[in-house]
Amino acid sequence: MNLSTDHLAVRTTCAYCGVGCGVQATPLADGVIAIAGDKLHPANKGRLCVKGSALGETVGLDGRLLYPQLRDAGGLRRVSWDEALDKVADGWRAIIDEHGPDAVALYVSGQLLTEDYYVANKLMKGYIGSANIDTNSRLCMSSAVAGYKRAFGEDLVPLCYDDLELADMVVLVGSNTAWCHPILFQRILKAKEARPEMKLVVIDPRRTATCELADLHLPVKAGTDVWLFNGLLSYLARIGAVDPRFIAQHTNGFDAALATANVDCSDPAAVAKICRIELAVLMEFYEAFAATRKTITAYSMGVNQSSAGTDKVNAIINCHLIGGRIGKPGMGPFSITGQPNAMGGREVGGLANMLAAHMDLERADHRDVVQTFWDSPAIADKPGLKAVDLFKAIEDGKVKAVWVIATNPIVSLPDADQARRALEKCDLVVASDIMQNTDTNAYADVLLPALGWGEKDGTVTNSERRISRQRAFLAAPGEALPDWKIISLFAQRMGYGGFDFGGAGEVFDEHARLSGFRNAHGDVPRAFDMSGLGGLDNREYDDLEPIQWPVRRTAAGELQVEARLFKDHVFAHADGKARFIATAPRAPMHAVSEEYPLSLNTGRVRDQWHTMTRTGKSATLADHIAESFVDMHPQDALLHGVREGELARVSSAWGAMVARVQHGGGIPRGSIFVPIHWSGQTSSDARVGALVNPVVDPVSGEPEFKHTPVRIEQFRVNWHGFILSRDELDLDSVAHWTRVQGRQFARYELAGRNTIDDFSGWARGLLAVRDPEADWLEYEDRSAGVYRAVHVVNDRIEQCLFLSPRQDMPPRAWLASLFVKDQLSEIDRVGLLVGMPVEKGADTGPTVCSCFGVGRNTICQAIVEKDLKTVPEVTACLKAGGNCGSCVPEIKKILVQTRAEAEEARL
Ligand code: SF4
Repeated sequence: MNLSTDHLAVRTTCAYCGVGCGVQATPLADGVIAIAGDKLHPANKGRLCVKGSALGETVGLDGRLLYPQLRDAGGLRRVSWDEALDKVADGWRAIIDEHGPDAVALYVSGQLLTEDYYVANKLMKGYIGSANIDTNSRLCMSSAVAGYKRAFGEDLVPLCYDDLELADMVVLVGSNTAWCHPILFQRILKAKEARPEMKLVVIDPRRTATCELADLHLPVKAGTDVWLFNGLLSYLARIGAVDPRFIAQHTNGFDAALATANVDCSDPAAVAKICRIELAVLMEFYEAFAATRKTITAYSMGVNQSSAGTDKVNAIINCHLIGGRIGKPGMGPFSITGQPNAMGGREVGGLANMLAAHMDLERADHRDVVQTFWDSPAIADKPGLKAVDLFKAIEDGKVKAVWVIATNPIVSLPDADQARRALEKCDLVVASDIMQNTDTNAYADVLLPALGWGEKDGTVTNSERRISRQRAFLAAPGEALPDWKIISLFAQRMGYGGFDFGGAGEVFDEHARLSGFRNAHGDVPRAFDMSGLGGLDNREYDDLEPIQWPVRRTAAGELQVEARLFKDHVFAHADGKARFIATAPRAPMHAVSEEYPLSLNTGRVRDQWHTMTRTGKSATLADHIAESFVDMHPQDALLHGVREGELARVSSAWGAMVARVQHGGGIPRGSIFVPIHWSGQTSSDARVGALVNPVVDPVSGEPEFKHTPVRIEQFRVNWHGFILSRDELDLDSVAHWTRVQGRQFARYELAGRNTIDDFSGWARGLLAVRDPEADWLEYEDRSAGVYRAVHVVNDRIEQCLFLSPRQDMPPRAWLASLFVKDQLSEIDRVGLLVGMPVEKGADTGPTVCSCFGVGRNTICQAIVEKDLKTVPEVTACLKAGGNCGSCVPEIKKILVQTRAEAEEARL
């Protein structure tokens, strides 16, 4: 009998980062989804990182928003689609009639598929007649867009991923690629393994996991990148590492850019001082850059998320233009996008300052192309409000209705409490989402259920301009609809034609055809052209293989694709030339001060995604880091009176949060790092967006997430504790809590200020144990303030709670492992109140390799007992690090530490 499930496998694309890996999803029995990398996808060739591998754990229906709902005095109530959409349409119509089209807005997301994005943009710019549609991609890559547009004339990523393997030197700037784009990082490492002479340089204030495998790390002071790259431009000019022919024939603005760079950055010693790095390290980088023609400078949020983000991008591009290092294999500037479809949003004009298909709002000929193609009653003719300004306008009452789609601005925007105030004041808030409870949905007047990953159909575009299909393999749950359909139904209710799409394929077709309309041989040429994909029938759309744009059809009907751009050194400015941009360096607007002496840097952790509405469902992903943290230098901790392992309150002029202090993230003196993922749903007060200053880049409007002046102080509590519970708990009565998903339980870390007189009664109340006869094991040391309780039902652990005035509680891994057992053994029961197994080796420790579930204790034990010396030896022994490779830097660190400790003990 053939038991193969291959015929059930659906080829789709990962829902997370901009690498855009191909995924093979196979629905099995009981709702289980087997996930594997798609060997045929050119981005990942079969590999997936741990987030991609865990996609199957995130598709369950728990917590899903399944029906339209309206909020009235009695709270939310379920309504029909008709009633919900009538409410939205009536509200928008009344507001537009009274206040004009700019009084309504869409705030959308890089999580949307291109088809969703296209319809949303068409609605706002062609029918409502306002450009008030912005996207959370504004928060991650709008500086990259603005930089490309200034330099090349259009938002054009010159390179493809293969170039990263062809380069002789890859410079990663402001990018913890090992954690945030793991498969791309693995591709770079594999290339380096094959060609050890290939150099990897990392420019990052933090010593991240990416640095562990780099040849050179420049730990520059945050915000000094323009000095660094202006210094490089100046150096390259000085030593003659220039291509005068290329500069003369293919660029403008060189003299002005060089003169600006020379003002402050012609002396490497001065640059090294400003960047706070050693001169020798700076010169090693400059000399290597000059000597290595095939160099790629890849950058990400550390460059983009800055009030000088666009200048940083152009300072980097300038250094490639000076040597004509662009348009050839293995060289050029390369922005790596954060979200799965930030690029698709750029194509359709999802940003408030763009028109569809890379055309400009400010250009009458572009507006004419788009309006003529859409045959629309209106066309926006001025930029709309960018994300931060949009929420200010909502609070000011200028924008009276906002529709938030697939994003969570109350968590992710800077000055996030301001976003909350804005939504509180807004006359009509609509939210389309896949989850019922999010921080943002709590303020929605109308909730609209959208399809999620695995349920919806469409396309996404990754960082190398590759369009891939996301395909449905699950039935639509409840009454959820695809976003493009929801928007189309709304548009039809508003009386607009042009929204009678029969499916995602028809939307894609229109998008592809618009890109070619009056383009290649027409009167308004643009580089963005995917007209070769216009006219696909449903079958061809369903079967579409990953393909890069530009993609056109030859006269013979063949698809013609350009893997890398500017091969002929013709750029998209009207004169065909690229622009050097003069980038005068400037410091972040808000300097640290006596009141706020530290600089806050924010970012992602390895195994979580954005506000955890999806990755938060996966126990595998929660294993790596279970609560928010403040990473800082030990000397700063000492100076500010906080201690590793204890809670601290971090505050800025905009807001405050609480998280646990830790060291070890390679944080330089004077700054701290906090992850972005925790929200009001997963913590009492660990939402870092509330602290972030709302300063934005003047060109791109991208906020300064990498620098906010803050202070840190002890968060005093009387006790610490943790709970593992099969049921969700209401912990609002405790001073601080965070929550992550375990296997068949939720894990809460908590701390309190209250004095507990009756431990047992208090614990039963907190755990909602009402039955006085419950199987309740407890231990109390009243004088020491230590209390432990375990609730067992039918010999199965139901809940456990550990409290102490100190941080001396047992590790959680072994207790967590008991929740997958149907029955506790006698030996398990012996260890319960100690929180430790009786048998040696049963506690594997905190997870290091999420792919194979290998804990730190297991790795340390193997290193010592088997005398393992290298990461490949650890992988051969335990499999750890053998799949996505994201944990390899961590294993390398553990190896060094464990061997050093073992050596010390031996001596
Ligand atoms: S690197 Fe990981 S998160 Fe990014 S697309 Fe690939 S599998 Fe998904």
